[in-house]
Amino acid sequence: MIKPAPSMSLIFSGTTTIASLAGLVYVALYPELPHALLLTGLFSLLLVSALGSYFAFQHAIRNEIGKPIDNLLKKNSSSDSSPRQMMTEETRIPQIKKLLAAYDTIHRELHETKALLDNNSMSDSITGLPSRSLFKDRLQSVITEYQRNRKNFSLLCVDINRFKEINDSLGQDIGDTILHDVSKRLSNLLRDMDTIARLGDDEFAIILKDTDIEGASNVAEKILVNFGMPFFVENHQLLVGPSIGIAEFPLHANSGSKLLQKANYALNIAKNNHLGFACYDESKIHDQVIDISLASELRDAINGNNLQLFYQPKFSLTASKVVEVEALLRWIHPDRGFIPPDQIINVAESSGLIHPLTEWVARTAIQQQKHWEEKGVDLGVAINLSVYNLQNPHLISIIQFIMSECETNPERLILEITEGAMMRNPEQAKEILSTLDKMNIKIAIDDFGTGYSSLAYLKNLPVDELKIDRSFVMNLKDDDNDLAIVRSTIDLAHNLDLSVVAEGVENQESWDKLHALGCDLIQGYYLSKPLPAEEFINWYHSYNEGNKQSA
Ligand code: C2E
Ligand code: CA
Ligand code: CA
Repeated sequence: MIKPAPSMSLIFSGTTTIASLAGLVYVALYPELPHALLLTGLFSLLLVSALGSYFAFQHAIRNEIGKPIDNLLKKNSSSDSSPRQMMTEETRIPQIKKLLAAYDTIHRELHETKALLDNNSMSDSITGLPSRSLFKDRLQSVITEYQRNRKNFSLLCVDINRFKEINDSLGQDIGDTILHDVSKRLSNLLRDMDTIARLGDDEFAIILKDTDIEGASNVAEKILVNFGMPFFVENHQLLVGPSIGIAEFPLHANSGSKLLQKANYALNIAKNNHLGFACYDESKIHDQVIDISLASELRDAINGNNLQLFYQPKFSLTASKVVEVEALLRWIHPDRGFIPPDQIINVAESSGLIHPLTEWVARTAIQQQKHWEEKGVDLGVAINLSVYNLQNPHLISIIQFIMSECETNPERLILEITEGAMMRNPEQAKEILSTLDKMNIKIAIDDFGTGYSSLAYLKNLPVDELKIDRSFVMNLKDDDNDLAIVRSTIDLAHNLDLSVVAEGVENQESWDKLHALGCDLIQGYYLSKPLPAEEFINWYHSYNEGNKQSA
């Protein structure tokens, strides 16, 4: 380390100051001395100091500033073969100027490099789209502009469903390619005036200028339809479903961060309810808060075995007897009372509890089936699966484990899966259903007629039973259209070797019509409402008794 030489100028300035101070002290101590004498003394002292300072400065230039410059120049001028002369003051000044100019250049270049780096972090390296920080700036300038012009625009938050799974199972390179292709597809669906950015992971944000909620919903629908087409990456054909949340400026918020927050809120609603897209809705916030507390109580109810299964019989028209039961979930909440099973399932699906809940249902129903069997009552038991259960890689092993635990005959287990759930991811559904079929477990298509599937498509799936949705059955006695639909469904299902269950049979007329149409099984309030296990078995025995007597 180079120690700076003590500056001569400092020494002389110090001397000057001390001399002046001494003068002042002198005046203070001997005020009676003649002022002219005193002032002459002081002036000569000042003169000596000033001269000293000048020589000290010259010395410093030569030795303290000049030396490092000389050294620098010496190092940098290796091509200069002539013996280097000690510099004169005239040559030194231009050299200092040169150095200052070089310093300026370095400074400017550093500044430019920093600007370039900043700019790079403003765009996302995978998609080339603006990053979160640039997006925030853009959002703010659109807000400023639209506030001034009193216009509205919409903000879309887009999230790729199950992106993490793609990344985990196929690797990050494929994940990156998907993100890149997703950004291309999204960009192609937008106008030049719209802004799209990647906020992070699998999150995108879009500003649709001059667009209200309705217009934004149309764009969201367009995106969903487009994403119905698979992505082709390497040898993979992948369906990538987005969820979209929409908020409108200034209707829902008038600051960038609030607007993002509201669009994200809507995104969560869309995700949790499999809606594809959702618009921010103030009135729904209350329901969401209730759902969160209900979810934690549901967790406790599952763990504490405080749920119940009710059993509703399915009567075989061909065998003239009750052959199966459907297990239906019941939860009597200590404060809120009866909670409809659809609502329980919704809460379970949006909180991840659907897996432990379905496991609880499967175990309880299979144990019950075994218990009845041991008492001489041979009934198949059907349980309902959610679309999420089909995405659970452990579903098969859990069912296998419970069946071996209870030593059940797999043929006595029926899994009811809604048509909508099967259609959500047909390839995945087919794979799981094939495995279950190989295990000799029966599969029923639930709520048939409410989805978009055709029987021709269902022909490819290993299903055994088709349940006509109760909305077509309940008015069968009065509605000829329903009758026509039920008739053709039964015929087609039989052509595909499926047995048909009509659910929602509420009267003798419907029962008779279904019998005449060749329906295989009947389920509905007319036979019996769903009942707790004990009550059900009493009903079952007395029903069989009654049947025997009337036969
Ligand atoms: P679902 O699978 O279609 O079950 C049949 C529903 O129809 C039951 O409603 C049953 O009580 C009702 N039902 C039966 N016969 C009649 C009738 O004659 N008339 C009328 N109006 N209704 C009838 P519930 O028990 O309220 O269950 C509603 C839905 O909740 C079920 O529809 C099913 O989708 C779901 N669910 C129930 N338990 C479970 C479960 O353990 N897991 C899953 N994932 N879903 C369940
Ligand atoms: Ca069902
Ligand atoms: Ca059903």
